[in-house]
Amino acid sequence: MSKYNRLTYRDEKGKAWAKLKTTCTTEEEMKFGRRSLEILTQYEESGLSPAEVIELTKEKEKREMNELSTKNLFTKLQDRLIINLQDNEILCPKCKGLRFILVEEENYSHIDSCRDCYNGKLYICKYCGKANRTDCCDCKEAREERNNNYLQEQKENNSRAYQLAEKINYKNYNDRFILPNSDRVIDIEELAEWIGELLLNKEDVPEYLWALDNERYFFIDLKTIIYDNCGDGYEYMYEHLNIKSPLLTQAQKLINQWQDEQGESLYIFSEDHKRAVVIKDLVDEISECLN
Ligand SMILES: [Zn+2]
Ligand SMILES: [Zn+2]
Repeated sequence: MSKYNRLTYRDEKGKAWAKLKTTCTTEEEMKFGRRSLEILTQYEESGLSPAEVIELTKEKEKREMNELSTKNLFTKLQDRLIINLQDNEILCPKCKGLRFILVEEENYSHIDSCRDCYNGKLYICKYCGKANRTDCCDCKEAREERNNNYLQEQKENNSRAYQLAEKINYKNYNDRFILPNSDRVIDIEELAEWIGELLLNKEDVPEYLWALDNERYFFIDLKTIIYDNCGDGYEYMYEHLNIKSPLLTQAQKLINQWQDEQGESLYIFSEDHKRAVVIKDLVDEISECLN
């Protein structure tokens, strides 16, 4: 018994199939035979062979494909899509998840990408109910939530970095500080003032601040500038120039002098997340003075 024998024989088609089956010899004939039962029922009286039935089936399918309008094809494609949606997601009403739409104009139609969505879905904001192309709504509540998440994430990153950082007591630290969420660089006296204000306002004071990291923002190097400027000139332009000229050396010396004179104005400051300055003792001292 082959697996094809397990078909039911209850209706007319079943009977027709049983009849066809006895003459099907190859797997392909079996496959097409099953799909073409309807054709077979129409033609069985004429005594067609399975090979002829296959031919007829193929022709019929081809005809149907051609008759299928682009619009129907689109609907069919949309019906076939399986898209997993989360609770806050809906299928894009315009493209139904396909990401493409059929634009039909007079005597002319073309496929365009859907402009209502990015990925076939729309995201419903849990706060205002608006359907958006991304999970980022622009309403106040959603923005607030994102901001809080960002701050929370930053806090977690900071505390992870603090675990690994070198911890320096503020008494052993000789540089200045950057206040949290600000880019102001302050010295120890200004820090003490800031702590005092926080304590008076009964606000939280951090136990540590990051050490200050500085980096010269730019350095004027005449040779580099000349080399870059040669880029759009003729071939090997730079090689034709007298880079070893004493004039150039002299000019570079003057520029270096000027750069040194600018001091910190040429630097940018940032937090060094590898060194933490522990200010707890200082906070305790100030707290005592205030009481
Ligand atoms: Zn869409
Ligand atoms: Zn919203």
